Amino acid sequence: MKRKVLVVDDEENIRLLFKEELEEEGYEVDTASNGLEALEKVKTASFDVIVLDIKMPVMDGIQALNAIKNMNKDQPVILCSAYGEFKQDLSSWVSDGYVVKSADTRELKETIKEILGP
Ligand SMILES: [Mg+2]
Repeated sequence: MKRKVLVVDDEENIRLLFKEELEEEGYEVDTASNGLEALEKVKTASFDVIVLDIKMPVMDGIQALNAIKNMNKDQPVILCSAYGEFKQDLSSWVSDGYVVKSADTRELKETIKEILGP
């Protein structure tokens, strides 16, 4: 069975890029354009991993991360954000991984593989 990834980003080009690249890796990919939309999806479907942008309108990635982990602390979540967008120590957040957003999706794919296994 294909493993499911939810890609959450307010930029459509990023959603499309990640979706295409991760589908090529054999994942089933759904998308959401902000944290609130992501929460709605998480309530009705299960995902093996959620890739969360930090800066988004309506509900940002940190709020969404906290809400998701409150619902299910074992839900793997990867924070993905533009370089330099957040200068705080990202390890203080309860995410399972952190990836700098890039058109080169190798780091993202590797982080997903580390979490899900081969
Ligand atoms: Mg954004």
